[in-house]
Amino acid sequence: MKALVYHGPGQRGWDTVPDPTIIDATDIVVRIDTSTICGSDLHILKGDVPETPPGTILGHEAIGTVQEVGASVSTVVVGDRVLLSCISSCGRCRFCKEHRYGLCLGGGGWIFGHLINGLQAEYARIPFADNSVYKLPDEVSDEQVLFLTDILPTAYEVGVLNGLVSPGDTVAVVGAGPVGLAAILTAQLYTPGRTIAIDLNDARLESATKFGADTTINNGHVDAIAQIMELTDGLGADVALEAVGTPATFELAAELIRPGGRVANIGVHGHSATLHLETLWGRDVTITTGLVDSYTIPQLMRLVTSGRLDPTPFATHHYSLEDTMDGYDTFADAANTHALKVVLEGAQSSTRHLELAAAGAGV
Ligand SMILES: [Zn+2]
Ligand SMILES: [Zn+2]
Repeated sequence: MKALVYHGPGQRGWDTVPDPTIIDATDIVVRIDTSTICGSDLHILKGDVPETPPGTILGHEAIGTVQEVGASVSTVVVGDRVLLSCISSCGRCRFCKEHRYGLCLGGGGWIFGHLINGLQAEYARIPFADNSVYKLPDEVSDEQVLFLTDILPTAYEVGVLNGLVSPGDTVAVVGAGPVGLAAILTAQLYTPGRTIAIDLNDARLESATKFGADTTINNGHVDAIAQIMELTDGLGADVALEAVGTPATFELAAELIRPGGRVANIGVHGHSATLHLETLWGRDVTITTGLVDSYTIPQLMRLVTSGRLDPTPFATHHYSLEDTMDGYDTFADAANTHALKVVLEGAQSSTRHLELAAAGAGV
């Protein structure tokens, strides 16, 4: 089969590799119908993720069709269409039993395209299938649920739910990349009073408005703190969702919240950031961190099938799976291409689209 293989920092290929097979009785093998590229794939390609060995097939976000099932798999059969979460669950360890699959101690967690071969390929081996894949209803297209594999549950669980976004809140989202936009979109499920998007890029801020932001701030041109204080009677935002992962954006998020406010860090950090306890200690703030567990996938799927949530606007570019290399070039050059998510379509990719109750349903 063909797959996108990481060959060490800065090097990748669309290579012919051996077909995956069942190794453990809990495995399935799927044909990848639709896949997509993530910012973490670019981090691995840059060489920032040393635990990923050269030779690994990348990708951890895909929709597939079951081709083969291991002897002990009982919840899916050959031919089932399944959503493949970025997070796998052994289902047996302490953290899996607490629905905190991202912390799995039994060989799950973020493994695809990281510790084992991933999902930017024609076929893939899926461990712990009974606990880790989600059967798809016939009426949803691949593209409607593709972003439920990672960015939506990440933004929703680690941002909106950890940040306890509540009706009427002023929510500030720092960073309007795909995950920040997903945070803006899923925050609307809780009817915030005002959603503020902060970014350095005007094109991204335009997208933020489409995904539900009421106010946008380009903090390259204006003082974001001053503007938020002006909008909130000098108090600050109720919740800040950090969706970049740099020291500057984390410190901005911690500075813009009101006393008693909440910072939910979603961003993946590669460097230490300063925690200004000298100003924060007496302000009763809560700061949360996390890796996605993806336990909200069924809930998000119900919102999609009922027409309350439409993630398809994230799909800005489409390539056939065999043109994955071109898809990477487009995604990596998002500053110029304005790519949010690049959809990679296999030969059997679903073109079915649910007739949503209303155009632009959801938010
Ligand atoms: Zn991802
Ligand atoms: Zn586990």
